[in-house]
Amino acid sequence: MDSILNRVAKDSGRRNRSSPSTSGDIFDPSSSSNAKQRATVIEWISSLLPYLSLSVNASDEELRAYLIDGTILCQLLNKLKPGSIPEFGGSGHSSEFGSENVKQFLSAMDKLGLPRFQASDLEKGSMKIVVECLLTLREEFMPDPSAALLHHVGHKFHEVFQLKHGGYADLPPSKITEMMKSNSLDIAPTQSLLSVVNEILDESIERKNGEIPHRVACLLRKVVQEIERRISTQAEHLRTQNNLFKTREEKYQSRIRVLEALATGTCEETQIVMNQLQHIKNAKSKMDAEKRNEDHDVVRLMKEKDDHIQEIAALKQELEIAKKAHEERCLKMEKEARNTQQKLEHKLKDIEILLKESEERMKELETFSESKSQKWSKKENVYQIFTEFQLGALRELKFASQSIKQEVVKTQRSYAEEFNQLGAKFRALDHAAANYSAVLAENRKLHNEVQELKGNIRVYCRIRPFLRGQKEKQSVIEYIGENGELVVVNPSKQGKEGRRSFKFNTVYSPASTQAQVYSDIQPFVQSVLDGYNVCIFAYGQTGSGKTYTMTGPEGASEESWGVNFRALNDLFRISQMRENTFKYEIKVQMMEIYNEQVRDLLSSDAVPEASMFPVNGTTDVLDLMDTGLNNRAKGSTAMNDRSSRSHSILTIHVQGKDIKSGSLMHSSLHLVDLAGSERVDRSEVTGDRLKEAQHINKSLSALGDVISALAQKNAHIPYRNSKLTQVLQASLGGQAKTLMFVQLNPEVASYSESMSTLKFAERASGVELGAARSSKDGKDIRDLMEQVASLKDTIATKDEEIEQLQLLKDQKNVSPEANGAKRSPNSFR
Ligand code: ADP
Ligand code: MG
Repeated sequence: MDSILNRVAKDSGRRNRSSPSTSGDIFDPSSSSNAKQRATVIEWISSLLPYLSLSVNASDEELRAYLIDGTILCQLLNKLKPGSIPEFGGSGHSSEFGSENVKQFLSAMDKLGLPRFQASDLEKGSMKIVVECLLTLREEFMPDPSAALLHHVGHKFHEVFQLKHGGYADLPPSKITEMMKSNSLDIAPTQSLLSVVNEILDESIERKNGEIPHRVACLLRKVVQEIERRISTQAEHLRTQNNLFKTREEKYQSRIRVLEALATGTCEETQIVMNQLQHIKNAKSKMDAEKRNEDHDVVRLMKEKDDHIQEIAALKQELEIAKKAHEERCLKMEKEARNTQQKLEHKLKDIEILLKESEERMKELETFSESKSQKWSKKENVYQIFTEFQLGALRELKFASQSIKQEVVKTQRSYAEEFNQLGAKFRALDHAAANYSAVLAENRKLHNEVQELKGNIRVYCRIRPFLRGQKEKQSVIEYIGENGELVVVNPSKQGKEGRRSFKFNTVYSPASTQAQVYSDIQPFVQSVLDGYNVCIFAYGQTGSGKTYTMTGPEGASEESWGVNFRALNDLFRISQMRENTFKYEIKVQMMEIYNEQVRDLLSSDAVPEASMFPVNGTTDVLDLMDTGLNNRAKGSTAMNDRSSRSHSILTIHVQGKDIKSGSLMHSSLHLVDLAGSERVDRSEVTGDRLKEAQHINKSLSALGDVISALAQKNAHIPYRNSKLTQVLQASLGGQAKTLMFVQLNPEVASYSESMSTLKFAERASGVELGAARSSKDGKDIRDLMEQVASLKDTIATKDEEIEQLQLLKDQKNVSPEANGAKRSPNSFR
């Protein structure tokens, strides 16, 4: 824009200057005229600024050098009109200051309304314009106004007007005509023209009639016309200038809009391009990844390709070989084919010959077959005769078979009769078999009776061996007889006095094993399954082996199992053997009696109704016994003491069902480990210990009384005297069987306790009273012995019968016909 404005200013400047420049051309532009003007200006400047020394004849270039920095110009103007230029740079040679001073001078000229030159005019080219401008300035500030006016219109104009000699009215017409004719009006400055107008008007006012001579009026009009023309051209010039500016402005505005649109467009585009760039980047990264994959693939494919090429090469080789082989084979085949063809041709010829031969032979055969068929027809006749004969024989055979059938029917009937007879015999046999179980039951009963007659109370004496590590080896046992005799010696007495003999059912030496001990009581255990109640006691002082006999040592192997494990094992074993005839249920109870109080060992509940647990095998029993022993331990802080001072009772309840008859029976086996039988010195113990001793004493003597009463078959049995006898009441007496192990400690120190134990046993077994009874009831015994003998006989015959029945049953199963006829079952009855 600036450049445009500058250009416009320059243009206008040039146009302004056009007048003086043309005037230069008009007013004799010869160098002499220029030099004259230059000299006038230099003279004028020197008069005003006397300190400058510049020759009047100085050239254009010398004057330029003088004025170029603008300082002289500014000083000149300040001299003419002080304060026109407030500040200007000193006479420095800096072009910056120079141009600044020149600018200030030129603007001051503009303010004064004087024509001016351009800064460039001062720098190069002709100095004419500068000189003229300075001449105008000189005239402006000349003291003579007419001189000033003349200078306004230039020298020519000044010369023409010659106003120093009076007013315009006084001017001769020739002069005015010259003024009007000459084109000097055109080049005269506007200021000069206006001052001409003013002077003419002032002259007319000064005159009395106010008239303006015609020629002056003409001059006036001319001058006014010139002024008007100048104004109109100026206005025209301004309008075009204005239009030019407007069009330029519009152009620039549109350009600005276009640029703005472009700028906004560029922003959006940039955004889009950024997005696209992002997309392209993503695509590029993808492409890169793909490229990598493809590279891998390419490598892999190259490898594969190599492999394939190798394979192909190998295959080619193979193919080559195969081809060769094939060709060879083809050749061979062709050879063979040719051979075969030749052979076939030979054969064909042979066959043709053969065919001819065979045709000939066929003709021969046809003639032969005709003769044969004649022979066959003859033979057919012969066969027909033979068949007729055979048919007759068949008819005879049919008759015979019918008669045989009748015979067979007859025989069948006789068989049926025989079968019926056999059925009757079978029924009889069946009856006999039914009787067999009855006989068995009877046998059991008789067996039991025998046992009863032997005594339902059995007393066994068992002597404990010396324990390992025991020093004292002297035993109080002197003799052990095979039939239950026992001799005990009193170590403190000599001779016969110190000896005492006892008799029991059996006496077990210290060497006897658990199995031997059990073998004697095994039949009683078995009788529990036949419905009998059995009680087995272990009696003796503490440490004499009661628990050993009943239970066995702790953690015992099967070999050293005590009575109760063996008894249960037997019960399970026998019940399994009998499972076809009887169905048994076995339940177990465990309790202890301490201070006349009963405690259930298998549960924490208090008895009377001690809990019963069904058992199916020995392992069940072992588990239950463990529970019982644990509970017994829990009941006391010192288990050994407690166990020796309480009775422990293991009860096995058996319920048997006869599968055939459906009848039920109940029985039980009590295994009792009694409290220690040792007597307590009353003076030594008090309190709980004394109370315990009293309870034990009481219950053991009550047991002794009951057993003794039972042995003597007393009418009254004193069950109610102790808890122990009350609990066992149902299993003591009547059909019940009582077995007692009397345990002895062989040590000398235990002599008196052993004696006391033996005396208790004697009383329980009834032997003690036996001597008195034998004299008194001798006949009874004899009678009983006879009875026993006869019963034994009966049993023997019964056994025989059973055996025979068994035999019969077996034979019946094997061949019922064979034996059925020979023996009638009735014959056994
Ligand atoms: P009790 O129950 O009468 O107090 P134990 O049965 O506890 O007596 O026996 C006392 C000790 O003697 C135990 O160590 C036991 O193992 C041992 N004992 C008892 N009888 C025999 C025997 N027949 N053979 C081997 N050791 C026995
Ligand atoms: Mg014990």
